[in-house]
Amino acid sequence: MTLVLEAQHINKHFQKPVPFHVLKDICFDVKKGEFASIMGKSGSGKSTLLYILSTMDTDYDGKLFLNEHLVTGKPSKELSRIRNKHIGFVFQFHYLLSEFSVIENVMLPAKKLGEKSHAEIEHEAIKKLEMLHIGHLAKKRANRISGGEKQRVAIARALINDPSILMGDEPTGNLDSYNSENVFQIFKQLKEEKGLSLLVVTHDMDFAKRTDRIIEMEDGSIIS
Ligand code: ADP
Ligand code: MG
Repeated sequence: MTLVLEAQHINKHFQKPVPFHVLKDICFDVKKGEFASIMGKSGSGKSTLLYILSTMDTDYDGKLFLNEHLVTGKPSKELSRIRNKHIGFVFQFHYLLSEFSVIENVMLPAKKLGEKSHAEIEHEAIKKLEMLHIGHLAKKRANRISGGEKQRVAIARALINDPSILMGDEPTGNLDSYNSENVFQIFKQLKEEKGLSLLVVTHDMDFAKRTDRIIEMEDGSIIS
């Protein structure tokens, strides 16, 4: 079975304010098309782990493979390119550029990657917005739409380069139950219809129990 993501013996220490072993020998993988969730108490290391797995944090011991290629190493242009192309990331807060239109926000990561023309990227962005049922918002300014709509725009932006894996750090943490369910259904549809792999940190048991697998963290270790 193809592994989209593989973590081997990931250890991380913070030095300040006091030396602290935050991630302890983390080993696990995500298979192609798998929808996995990470749960655990606040402070157990979930966000720290997700930043490493998404290659945003390169300061750790151990090895990380993305599509069976080693991506462990110092920050570099090549690592940024790999991240932009292969990893979609959705945060608890949408981080849209409020003065830009919805479609401009969605197009940004593809513009940064620079592999397609403006027209191709625009076409792709419209497709993504329509898939998430927000095509009608394309020309609106990002600060003129609701919270649930903003998070769907953030998902469209995360998908613009057709990543291998979509990661989320409590992507429903700031949403009401209606919009949380909407985001869950989008993720499920991406898995079932596109074969996308997903790795999502959540506090919501109702969300997690409907994913393929729950990874449970405690004090920097995976306990199940
Ligand atoms: P979670 O996402 O599970 O709530 P985090 O990964 O954010 O947990 O944090 C894990 C632990 O590491 C916490 O005890 C937190 O206080 C600590 N921590 C997080 N970031 C830093 C940092 N930059 N420097 C020192 N300690 C940190
Ligand atoms: Mg966190």
